[in-house]
Amino acid sequence: MRSVRDAPGRPVAVANGEEGEPGSVKDRWLLRHRPHLVLDGLRLASAVTGAARGVVYLSDPHAERAVRRALGEWPAELPVAVVRTEPAYVAGEESAVVRRIDGGPALPTAKPPRPYESGVGGAPTLVANVETLARIALLHTRPDGAAADAHLVTVSGTGGAAALVEVPAGTHLKVLADLCGHGRAEAVLLGGMFGGLYGAGWRDLPLDQDSLAAAGGALGCGALHFLHPEACPVAVAREAAAYLAAQSARQCGVCVSGTGALADALAAVARGEADAETSGKLLRWSRGLPGRGACGLLDAAAGVAGSLLAHFPDRVEDHRDPGCPACAGAAPGDGRRFTVPVP
Ligand code: SF4
Repeated sequence: MRSVRDAPGRPVAVANGEEGEPGSVKDRWLLRHRPHLVLDGLRLASAVTGAARGVVYLSDPHAERAVRRALGEWPAELPVAVVRTEPAYVAGEESAVVRRIDGGPALPTAKPPRPYESGVGGAPTLVANVETLARIALLHTRPDGAAADAHLVTVSGTGGAAALVEVPAGTHLKVLADLCGHGRAEAVLLGGMFGGLYGAGWRDLPLDQDSLAAAGGALGCGALHFLHPEACPVAVAREAAAYLAAQSARQCGVCVSGTGALADALAAVARGEADAETSGKLLRWSRGLPGRGACGLLDAAAGVAGSLLAHFPDRVEDHRDPGCPACAGAAPGDGRRFTVPVP
């Protein structure tokens, strides 16, 4: 907010409610059920940055109806437009948000400039996640910070029901898993798909940005997908990589070839057709590809592959003998395994 405030020009503030991760529902839930809280946060963020107008950016039609209704009940201190986009993994990336609001496709652009430097209509633009804005509104009413120091987490997984829960920052994953019926899980996919797979030791991970990053994962959108004993991490990695390859916006050559190669190699591992050379390539790509696309999709695919090799080398090795039943029945990578209905 400081960067936007200090940039030359009259800023624009955007509430970004387009959550591309299929395993996350928190933003749609907030827009559907707490739209006034998000709008209050947008108004406060606009006051801090000096924004002349606001935009609510989303793809969910139920959320759009709730926001429009709330705007009708809201003091008209700040002109707010609602911009609807098509749902896609990359549609919520900040430069894609700006491009779509300006009338273009919801696809990321090369950076710099970042939106805070030149965003909607060339104005400095705050692109803030709707949960962030809701927490700004809570912080305004509870300045002690208690309301802000928490996370909305979408929990799902093989062998248990999906749930959206709010927990204090730092809550151990074991507590969260037990609370949601996933205590038997052997592994977890962190941050939607962005934080990769985590095996032994996942129970001791505290749910906060810094701790997960230090452990080689990421909090991302806060979605956790637990893998129960009958689930195969190779099958999960293969489905995630196939989904990401299908969602590539196909703008950056390195992403088109990189996500495709990662997905193909993981599919070969799952079919029992991979050799040591395949694992070597996966390792090289997982280290060399992150940071080379215009957005984080390529990083997510590389992270899924790298974390599979790091946490499950024996399971990868076991797949040299074809016949893993979980991999044989794996979904085609349309994201269905990870998709959670909005409560
Ligand atoms: S990295 Fe991939 S998804 Fe992201 S902008 Fe480039 S081509 Fe599109």
